[in-house]
Amino acid sequence: MKTTIWGSFLRKILLLTGALSSLVSIAASQARPLPGPDVAQIYERLLPQIEKIPAFDHHAHPGFSDDPDVDAMAAPPDASSALRTRDDNPELIAAAKALFKYPYADLSPEHAQWLVAKKVELKKQYPGTAYFDMILDKINTESSVANRAMMAGYLDPNRFPWVFFADSFMWPFNNELETARNPDEGVYIPLQEKMLHRWMQQENVSKLPAKFGDYLDFIARVLSDDQKNGGIAMKFEVAYFRPTTFSDPTREQAEEIYNRFVSGGVPPEKDYRIFQDFIFRYLVMLGGRLDLAVHIHTAVGIGDYFNLSQSNVMGLESVLRDPRYHSTTFVLIHGGYPLEREAVWLAAMKNVYLDSSFGELAQYPSAFKETLKMWLETFPDKITFGTDCFPYNEVLGAEESYWLGAQSSRMALAAALAEMVSENEITESRALQLAHAYLHDTAVGLYHGKVH
Ligand SMILES: [Zn+2]
Repeated sequence: MKTTIWGSFLRKILLLTGALSSLVSIAASQARPLPGPDVAQIYERLLPQIEKIPAFDHHAHPGFSDDPDVDAMAAPPDASSALRTRDDNPELIAAAKALFKYPYADLSPEHAQWLVAKKVELKKQYPGTAYFDMILDKINTESSVANRAMMAGYLDPNRFPWVFFADSFMWPFNNELETARNPDEGVYIPLQEKMLHRWMQQENVSKLPAKFGDYLDFIARVLSDDQKNGGIAMKFEVAYFRPTTFSDPTREQAEEIYNRFVSGGVPPEKDYRIFQDFIFRYLVMLGGRLDLAVHIHTAVGIGDYFNLSQSNVMGLESVLRDPRYHSTTFVLIHGGYPLEREAVWLAAMKNVYLDSSFGELAQYPSAFKETLKMWLETFPDKITFGTDCFPYNEVLGAEESYWLGAQSSRMALAAALAEMVSENEITESRALQLAHAYLHDTAVGLYHGKVH
């Protein structure tokens, strides 16, 4: 009896200590909802280490402002720009100071001339591909995607892998209706026609093939030749031109529409969309077959007529989660911004990745930090860095926007990780692993040795 009482007392003591010690260990590792007073110190420790990580820029438009091949499309005149992306953003002066030792605090026309002259002098000093290589060295970017209509001789292909545009295959017919929809389409659609024409020239095709099967073969030939010319991915900016929800028509449906309009006539919008839905899915399938990643613009866009609700990133969900495309690697360029909170859950698919470019320019680092933190806390192995750099004008070029994008991203990354460390979510060494993954390793891993 006594032994039993003693035994049950002992058991109770043991259970209690067990419970207590597990409570203690939970408390030691449980995340806190607020950063501690150490967060600024952690940030100061992480930032210099993050600045030393050579980056891979997953989305950028390098080139000079007078180069028409920087993009397959152009900004419509008088388009509204969000505050930080205007070319009078004083941070661009900070960029010119950091890159070129610009000696002035404003961009008055005479002062701006200094910057133009400085760049001319540097181009002589760093001829050919050396100039943009030097810019990448200054911002510690090992290599950067060149998402351009065509590659430029002045970009080093070893450091600027090409991402070409694939939208134009969806607009082969008479585009009268498409062009007339609004003034922005009046700028965009003729440029798509021009792009398709250039692919036809490349393949020595003088007019659209009479047979639909031959048109599909022509598309496949362009992709495979672009790949031979250094292309690592195809890019869609389809959200600028039409809604990004895609139905699933049969080949026969698409063929019937092709046969009806290949030699003329204006396709009604409904028919054109069905044809395009088929071509988009065909391109996505080819991406998997040829090992060409599929980059898709998923965010707000320039131009006042850009339809945010119709080009919502979630419209792509039925394509992204379609098991027929499991061998296609998708990169959601701009991470669905401003719907990046929803978009990160699309990266649950093993073949879907996010790129953070534009988010770091459209937002200030304090806001962009929140985006990165939320992504790092959800699928940290599926997110990649990009700047979306672009030559603003003759004075402020891709150089300054590269600098601003890279600096903003590194600062926001250090701040997001510092909060996560201080809030007891991760250790500092884990924070640096995540920084390497985001800035370089995850994106480079998608291209099987073709980029570094
Ligand atoms: Zn872009």
